[in-house]
Amino acid sequence: MKHANVALFVPHNGCLHQCSFCNQRSITGRQIQPTARDVIEAVQTAQRSLQEIQSAEIAFFGGSFTAIERGDMISLLEAAAPFVGKDGFAGIRISTRPDAIDEEILSLLKRYGVSSIELGAQSMDDRVLDCNRRGHTSAQVEKASAQIRAYGFSLGLQMMTGLYGDTPAGAMNTARRLAALKPDTIRIYPTIVMRETELEALYQSGAYFPMELEEAVSLCAELLDFFEGEQIRVIRLGLHSTPELERDRLAGPWHPAFRELCESHRFYNKVYKCLKDDMDIGFTIKIRVNPKDISKALGQKKKNLTALTQMGYSVRFVQDAQIDLGQFQVNAL
Ligand code: SF4
Repeated sequence: MKHANVALFVPHNGCLHQCSFCNQRSITGRQIQPTARDVIEAVQTAQRSLQEIQSAEIAFFGGSFTAIERGDMISLLEAAAPFVGKDGFAGIRISTRPDAIDEEILSLLKRYGVSSIELGAQSMDDRVLDCNRRGHTSAQVEKASAQIRAYGFSLGLQMMTGLYGDTPAGAMNTARRLAALKPDTIRIYPTIVMRETELEALYQSGAYFPMELEEAVSLCAELLDFFEGEQIRVIRLGLHSTPELERDRLAGPWHPAFRELCESHRFYNKVYKCLKDDMDIGFTIKIRVNPKDISKALGQKKKNLTALTQMGYSVRFVQDAQIDLGQFQVNAL
């Protein structure tokens, strides 16, 4: 089933904090908070293409939705609520901070047809949260997640890699603790240094080194594998490209096809492990993959093929629709 979000970006307004990495204005690509009229127009525009889409959610992203001024929040929900249940609109999705959730807010969200709540957890290490001025603790992530699930909402959690003061092992630990909260979805964002942030100052002074792209790809490929192994859908890997992101991005592991790089890296790891365990160098090896996986299997600019060849394997990738997505079959010729 084709699914889409009608995304409305709520900027920094509701947030009383200033996280080290956040330049919300650039990331959302908008400075002005949407009005009820904007919500109605966006949904009506989306309705015209809904025959092809089949299922959609009205999504308020980008800020701390439940922390914006209460009257504004209700007016946005009132504009969106009448569309829920009609023309394929399954519900309303919001994103917010863990400390902006309580039972009263959850009851209110329920009343207006909100179906999914995403929490920006970012890390489950209190020291890392503190270093990055998040203004909440890991215990608050746990409490808010439990409340969201108890009210019957779909739970989404967002984490970041390469945060100031974090390590790859720390990010894996965050992933394990987030998985234990049984979210339905996860988003993973590698930390990018944006202009006019505290992280920019830390980077310029040499106190913070962003991850290299290769490093971030390798870590995020591992995280992707971990979450999928836990049956948790990773619905986003890497920040969306916007003109504002392009303009204000100073350093860090950003790539327009970041997820594709991670999936390709994961494919390579699996193939390499299989060859290392079962195949001697010198054989010509045929690797059958689903046609939809061929670019992942080969890697960007045939990187995977080149790496395997350099290791002494003579490899041919063959497309075979009988092979399940994400799987492969190896035969020595
Ligand atoms: S909580 Fe979200 S909106 Fe607020 S400063 Fe941090 S990242 Fe930005």
